[in-house]
Amino acid sequence: MASPLYRVLKDSEVPPGGWRWRHPKSGRMFSRETFADLLEGVQRTLLNLGEDPALASSQIHQATAESLIHQGREDLVQVAKEVPRSAGQYASGAKAAFLKWWRESPVYGLISGKVDRGEEVFVGQAEADRRASICAGCPHNVIPAGKGWLQNWTDGQMLKSVEGRKTASHERLGVCEVCSCELRAAVWWQADIIATTTRDAKFARHLPAPCWKRKILTL
Ligand code: SF4
Repeated sequence: MASPLYRVLKDSEVPPGGWRWRHPKSGRMFSRETFADLLEGVQRTLLNLGEDPALASSQIHQATAESLIHQGREDLVQVAKEVPRSAGQYASGAKAAFLKWWRESPVYGLISGKVDRGEEVFVGQAEADRRASICAGCPHNVIPAGKGWLQNWTDGQMLKSVEGRKTASHERLGVCEVCSCELRAAVWWQADIIATTTRDAKFARHLPAPCWKRKILTL
């Protein structure tokens, strides 16, 4: 039998153990202290997986509430009503959320600023190939199955950001399930862009030792 839908009573407070979300493909649990911090990352990950980013809030409430119940804190949880979304709402919500995220994202602002100042935005072919070959052999590189319109559209936006550049491992790259990056684009960005788009310094510990991104974030 499916688990009931839960909500945490107050999303302005930090629940015992923090706010939680379970990655739908890997089962990995993520947690952050504030709801807002976790929400942004979950929305981006759902977009990269080709899923509806509007589900982020209810998924975070569900995972956090289940953890609270496990801790014996049912007093902080209530049963929620499911509000079905139509296919049209899904499509327009997902597209609007992605556009908003992309235009407001640190990487968009940083790339635009560098271009305006005439500075180099991308690493060279050899460095991008090196990074891409590490990702290609990494178990966290996930090729999304059954690409739908949203995934294709998202990938298109990301690939546009690197102006069609390709590495030797281009066809073997998908999405990083740890940092949720579109890897075919991310391997081209310079270190300061990678560092700026990762706001949480503690995040690096979730990346495996051979990861090129981990090395940038722990310099
Ligand atoms: S963990 Fe690092 S090496 Fe692995 S896929 Fe993600 S970015 Fe690439």
